[in-house]
Amino acid sequence: MAKNKHHKEERTFVIIKPDGVQRSLVGEVIKRYEKIGLKLIGLKIVIPKPEVIETHYTIDPEWMRKTGEKNIANYKKKGLTPPSEDPLEITKIVLENLKKYMTSGPVVLMVWQGAHAVGIVRKITGTTEPLTSDVGTIRGDFVLDSYVMSDTDGRAVRNVLHASGSVEEAEKEIKLWFKENEMVNYRLVQEAILYDVDLDGILE
Ligand code: GDP
Ligand code: MG
Repeated sequence: MAKNKHHKEERTFVIIKPDGVQRSLVGEVIKRYEKIGLKLIGLKIVIPKPEVIETHYTIDPEWMRKTGEKNIANYKKKGLTPPSEDPLEITKIVLENLKKYMTSGPVVLMVWQGAHAVGIVRKITGTTEPLTSDVGTIRGDFVLDSYVMSDTDGRAVRNVLHASGSVEEAEKEIKLWFKENEMVNYRLVQEAILYDVDLDGILE
């Protein structure tokens, strides 16, 4: 986050993936991010193009390598042989599956703003693999998918959401999916109670 910005201006980017839309979880997802005090400043529904999905997942130049290495380690931890020892080969398959999944129907794109928006949204969303996401998170409460199941069936893991992993990633992803004039700057009345230093407007 840039030094001259206040924490309350942190932004994050969320996609409700095609399975989330099909399972009528749009309202549930919005409700959870809304209830914690975050402000919705951008919202649209689109059917993504495969090229944009590829750009989105390769915004972090390290993602291909890191995901491949994690995937290989996961196989070995379970005593299984990974489909390849080359992390980039593995991630190529993951990426192809993601392109099929993410272009299979409409997705909802959102930009949320507020203190620690990136970390707070990740916490509410839960970890990547639904099988091991904590109860109480969106992925933990609403999905039962796993890597072993998705890998066996040769498809992407269905985990309902994408949420930016860092402030830097969020900034790049927002630029990729939203034009500046598609986001709205406004003040939520509740921001006074969340952020104002002196709570001097309450008592009559
Ligand atoms: P996220 O930020 O929690 O969505 O997770 P990542 O940024 O690490 O990965 C992005 C997407 O790649 C995930 O949502 C999964 O669809 C896929 N992915 C990541 N790691 C793995 C893995 O180890 N195995 C499989 N099959 N897919 C993975
Ligand atoms: Mg990620």
